[in-house]
Amino acid sequence: MHLHTSLRVGGPADLYAIPEDAEDLQKLLSGLGERQMPWLTVGKGYNLLVRDKGISGAIISLERFNRIASVGAALIKAEAGAENLAVVRYAQKIGLGGLGFISGIPGTIGGAIKMNAGAYGEGILEHTEQLTLLRGGEIRDYHMQELDYGYRHLKLADGDIVLAATFKFDERDHQLTEEEIRKDLELRRTKHNVGFPSAGSFFKNPKGQAAWRLIDAAGMRGVTVGGAQVSTVHSNFLINIGNAVAQDFLDLAALVKNAVITTSGVTLEEEVRIVGNV
Ligand SMILES: Cc1cc2nc3c(=O)[nH]c(=O)nc-3n(C[C@H](O)[C@H](O)[C@H](O)COP(=O)(O)OP(=O)(O)OC[C@H]3O[C@@H](n4cnc5c(N)ncnc54)[C@H](O)[C@@H]3O)c2cc1C
Repeated sequence: MHLHTSLRVGGPADLYAIPEDAEDLQKLLSGLGERQMPWLTVGKGYNLLVRDKGISGAIISLERFNRIASVGAALIKAEAGAENLAVVRYAQKIGLGGLGFISGIPGTIGGAIKMNAGAYGEGILEHTEQLTLLRGGEIRDYHMQELDYGYRHLKLADGDIVLAATFKFDERDHQLTEEEIRKDLELRRTKHNVGFPSAGSFFKNPKGQAAWRLIDAAGMRGVTVGGAQVSTVHSNFLINIGNAVAQDFLDLAALVKNAVITTSGVTLEEEVRIVGNV
């Protein structure tokens, strides 16, 4: 899995499946069910830490589900495998905007929805009208009022797969969206460019506080375990400075959490999803 995750660590999965369409996906799931093989759906692995012992079971990538279409006045439906920036660009072409903040968030719509990815105080689910879920073998659209979500979190039942999301946009001048996109990409290039593989922010921001400040206050900036390091550029980014293994990140994260509890009394919670065999 180190080939499929931005942290570049993690042991192998038993199977990596890339279904063609919904029918193919359903066949795959029934085959996995018959073999009692567990599975996990992933996007581009920008928020995944896979343990070194790998994953007993299958990884399902929806990268072929990448269609984007206009489905009504200011409504755009994007399949789970579409990349965030592609959706913003699609909207821009037809004079719509308002989701510029997702332009520079690396990954797919499926991953962004599951994580309620966001920036500058906004989350993608605030702009989402409905989700198309594969739940218990049935494909159905769910309005956001039917679902439980919050900061970097969407509660899904075990086995739910996000197939697509419908977003509500505003009418917006092409050039204004262009400026939003450029500003976001430039900010990330200058301020967030940590120069090494990472998964973005490793910890969630505790209510009313910035995780990076707490990590700095605990004196953890630059601390290194094996090949994993608290970035000196952005202390909520844990980076792979070369030949890290997943255990390095797990040990470093534990050190950071302990130090922050000791200095600030705050328990940090991982934003990165940690999966795989213990
Ligand atoms: C440099 C950098 C900067 C970043 N900046 C930000 C930022 O500003 N804001 C932010 O929120 N995040 C940020 N991230 C984190 C990451 O980009 C987001 O969490 C992103 O949404 C992950 O998308 P992905 O497709 O890679 O998902 P993955 O990492 O592959 O998966 C994330 C989770 O979603 C689940 N999942 C994926 N697809 C589906 C699906 N179709 N159905 C059900 N579950 C699914 C996975 O099982 C996993 O639990 C950053 C990461 C990096 C490396």
